[in-house]
Amino acid sequence: MMRIVIAGGGLSGVSLAAHLAVADHRRPVVVVDDGSRDLRSRTWASWTDRPGLLDAAACRWFDQVRVHLNGETKVVRLGAYRYRVVRGGDLADAVARLTNPLRHFTSLRGHVDRIERDGVIVDGEHVRAKWVFDSVIGPGSPPPADASLVFRGWHVRSERAAFDAETPTLFDFRTSQLNSASFVYVLPFDAHHALVEHTAFTAPGAPESPSDQEEALAEYLTEVVRTGGHEVERAERAVLPLRAAQPVRAGGTVLRIGAEGGLLKASTGFAYQRIQRDSAAIADSLRRNGHPFDLPVTPARFRTFDGTLLDVVTREPAQLERAFGALFRRRTAEPALRFLDEESSVAGEWRLFAGMPAAPYLAAARRRLAHEGRTAPAEWGRPH
Ligand SMILES: Cc1cc2nc3c(=O)[nH]c(=O)nc-3n(C[C@H](O)[C@H](O)[C@H](O)COP(=O)(O)OP(=O)(O)OC[C@H]3O[C@@H](n4cnc5c(N)ncnc54)[C@H](O)[C@@H]3O)c2cc1C
Repeated sequence: MMRIVIAGGGLSGVSLAAHLAVADHRRPVVVVDDGSRDLRSRTWASWTDRPGLLDAAACRWFDQVRVHLNGETKVVRLGAYRYRVVRGGDLADAVARLTNPLRHFTSLRGHVDRIERDGVIVDGEHVRAKWVFDSVIGPGSPPPADASLVFRGWHVRSERAAFDAETPTLFDFRTSQLNSASFVYVLPFDAHHALVEHTAFTAPGAPESPSDQEEALAEYLTEVVRTGGHEVERAERAVLPLRAAQPVRAGGTVLRIGAEGGLLKASTGFAYQRIQRDSAAIADSLRRNGHPFDLPVTPARFRTFDGTLLDVVTREPAQLERAFGALFRRRTAEPALRFLDEESSVAGEWRLFAGMPAAPYLAAARRRLAHEGRTAPAEWGRPH
């Protein structure tokens, strides 16, 4: 029987393998990864309101988050949601528990050179496949980025017991907004250890300012967290292109998954939970239809919202704090998280948007409509 090839064994590749393992199909599955990114050294945080196949991989679950907006710090309950942290090593182990007992699941160390109609080229060798799930090559011409999410994170050990181990800080705007819409995110591991990240939304192609971000982190740790002295144990940085438009995901026997498939939420840079849901939907489509393309499509308005927000905050950085202030002004974060999960109702969205200044968003929406009128929207491919 012709195999399934998953190109890339990162978050989306291993999540899909796990969901295929429980979908009870008999096709051989090969996950190909060249080791350029070490899954075990990575960590993802995300919110969810429902049980998931890989929940056992989460090492922490939180019921509340802290936000600092418009001069005020609030601890916000998450309602039906919980915020969880998954370490790459635990994810790899949880996936292995599902796939290792199955002899038709294998992994292959190799570099995917390109993807063809009937398979993939791995280190020059043709590996034939019925279906290819691609998280590494991506579409030849992705939609243009609307912004970049530039982040610099420090894994910090603090002298003082300075971190609240029970409450992550989703965003704290006590950092300069002069050059870009920016906030600090704090993921505590215990009272002395946390990942502290400076996150900036910049216009596409804008130069990075690593020293500014490091300065902002140092200032935040000293003046806001008041660590009383700290050591940076490990640093990480990334620049994520944020695209409101959906890239072409499917064509022939190939379906793009993960960030290459457009699963990164453009207004937040989060993808973990979207990837879990996508993996479940792909496995379900294969089981029901014999092909992986019968996937839920979210209403197009959410991509318009994302693009409009990115347009506004890359022009007027101070608007990000106002927008998050409007979204998170309720007693619980649930309505905001449901909106960011693209599961809100139109009426609920109007309630969330009240409190946001209309003028910059209307101007941005007009710019986007004019631009979209000049460019054809990207269509999802269908099996043929
Ligand atoms: C530093 C960082 C932190 C993030 N934190 C969060 C978070 O906390 N929460 C959240 O929701 N989202 C987060 N994201 C966004 C998103 O969840 C991640 O980018 C996620 O890893 C995307 O999954 P993926 O499978 O598309 O890519 P990856 O997980 O990067 O997987 C790609 C895999 O392909 C392999 N590979 C690459 N090229 C080739 C090739 N040619 N041949 C073979 N193998 C190849 C790599 O080794 C890697 O294992 C973060 C992103 C970054 C960059």
